[in-house]
Amino acid sequence: MAGSPRVGVLALQGDVREHAALLRGLGAEVVLVRRPEELAIVDGLVIPGGESSVIDKLSRSFGMQIPIRDAIAAGLPVYGTCAGLIMLADEVLDGIEGQESFGGMDISVRRNAFGRQTESFETALDVPALGDEPVRATFIRAPIVVRTGDHVDVLATLPDGGIVAVEQGRLLGTSFHPEVDGETRFHERFLVHVGDRLREP
Ligand code: GLN
Repeated sequence: MAGSPRVGVLALQGDVREHAALLRGLGAEVVLVRRPEELAIVDGLVIPGGESSVIDKLSRSFGMQIPIRDAIAAGLPVYGTCAGLIMLADEVLDGIEGQESFGGMDISVRRNAFGRQTESFETALDVPALGDEPVRATFIRAPIVVRTGDHVDVLATLPDGGIVAVEQGRLLGTSFHPEVDGETRFHERFLVHVGDRLREP
């Protein structure tokens, strides 16, 4: 395969357009993924922010839960923001009754972890793995990572120590939304994972 990587944005619910536009700006070919046939042709997947309980329900009714779980288990690079991070977590705390995730990352996340006063906020975050320039991070009814397994790297924490960006192999997750601030470095990192996967024998 020559040229641009082909990546999917899970398009069941959430801020799909922002991710698609950002990824296209980085030179990727973007497929909006709603069905297993679309998942099958992408080399990486972004799970957008939105509402994890809705993404969960729709993924099950569209027959996407098992294919996405299988793809993650087979090594598909995935980047989840906010609700997308929740979908990647092996354990979801404060989910709605019966809420499930795709899992794959050995983490526990707590939904809506910031109180009503701070439902939405913006802050500058140090993310050493992305260089010296801080990341402008927008949090919207954001989750927090409350447990990380041995193979999970913490990429960013808030001043109080709350974990808000994590990576496990080719799975990347952030509590916040870089795509709304024109911050491209997390998506670039995801595309590096995609390229690495494509070069694998
Ligand atoms: N609170 C939402 C959820 O539980 C996540 C919010 C977001 O993605 N901005 O899914």
